[in-house]
Amino acid sequence: MRQHVRNPVHAYFFTGPVGSSLHDAVLAFAAALQCPNQGCGVCETCRLVLEGKDTDVYFAERAGISWRVDDLREADRVSRRRPLGAGYQIIVLEEVDLTTTGSSPSASALLKSLEEPPSRTIFLLTADEVPEALDTIQSRCVEIKLKGLSEDDLEAILTREGAPVDAARMAAVAASGNLRRARVLVRDDALGERIATWRTVPERLTGTPSASAALASEIATALDQAIAPLQLLQEEELEHRIKDAREMGQRSIANRKDVEAQFKREQRRFRIDELRFGLTALTNVYRERMIQGLEEADAGDSRSDYRVGASMRAIDIIVSTNQRLSSNIDETLLLNDLMLSLMEL
Ligand SMILES: [Zn+2]
Repeated sequence: MRQHVRNPVHAYFFTGPVGSSLHDAVLAFAAALQCPNQGCGVCETCRLVLEGKDTDVYFAERAGISWRVDDLREADRVSRRRPLGAGYQIIVLEEVDLTTTGSSPSASALLKSLEEPPSRTIFLLTADEVPEALDTIQSRCVEIKLKGLSEDDLEAILTREGAPVDAARMAAVAASGNLRRARVLVRDDALGERIATWRTVPERLTGTPSASAALASEIATALDQAIAPLQLLQEEELEHRIKDAREMGQRSIANRKDVEAQFKREQRRFRIDELRFGLTALTNVYRERMIQGLEEADAGDSRSDYRVGASMRAIDIIVSTNQRLSSNIDETLLLNDLMLSLMEL
C-alpha cells in the first residue's frame, strides 16, 4: 500500500468481510494519498481527510438501498473535476456490491466512470465481497483484500476495554472477525440465550407447522432484541459527537439526518449479520449430528445412515437460506421457509 501511495493507479477495490474496517482502511489510504508525507497521520492534510473534511475527497451518497444511475452520475461528475488542493480528486464509493445490473444498470454507469478517469482522479471502491456481476469493474481496479480480526485479538481488545473475560470470549467467538460487532455483543446479556435458541432448533422441530412458525417468530423476536445494545452504543456515540460539536462552539452536529440514516443502515446490517451467525450456529449442530452418525455407522449401527443423510440435507438447506439473505428477502418468510424445510427432513 505504501508503494501504491507513491505510484497510485486510478482505481482501488477494497474487499473484506463485514467488520474488517473497510471504511477506516479507505479513509487512511485516502489520507496517505493526499498527505505531502505519504500518510504521516498528524499533518493538517491528514487530519482533514480523516475527519471527512477534505473537499477533494468525495464520498458518494446513495439515495436508496441500492446504487442508482443518478447517484453514480453525480460521482462521475465530481470525478471529472480538478482537485482544489495539491493532491488528488478522490471518489469513494462504498458497498459497490449494491449496484444493479437489471433494467437500469448502475453497475455499467460505474464501469464507464472507471474507464477513462482524468489523470488526477482516483476511485476507491469497497464491498464485503465481489459478486460475479462486478467482475469487469473489479478487473479495472487493484484489489486490496482485508481480513477480519482473529478471535484471540478480539478477545484481547474487549478485555483491555474492561469487559469480563467470559463475556469477551463469547462475544469474540460470535463476532466473525468484526470488532464493531464484538463491541456490541459484549454488552448483550442475551447473547448466550440466543445461541442456545438456535442450537435447540433441530430438537424442537419435531411437531406441527404451527410449532415451526412459533419457533420462527421466537427467533425474529430475539433478533429484534439483539439490536438494542447496538442502538445504545449508537446513542452514546451521537451524544459524544454532539458534546464535541458544542465544545467547538457549534449548536449541534451539522449532519444529524445523515448520521441517523447511517445508524438505521447499520442496524439493518447488524440484523443480517446476527441472522447469519445464527445460521452458522445451526449448521454446527447438524454437522455435529452428521459426525456422530458417521461414527455410529462405523460402529455398525445401520440406522445412522438416515441420520447422516438428513443432517447433510439440513446443511444444504441452511446454505441456500444464507444465500437468499443477500437478496433483500422478507425475513419472516425466510425463517418460516427454513423451519418448515428443516422439519420435513
Ligand atoms: Zn500527513
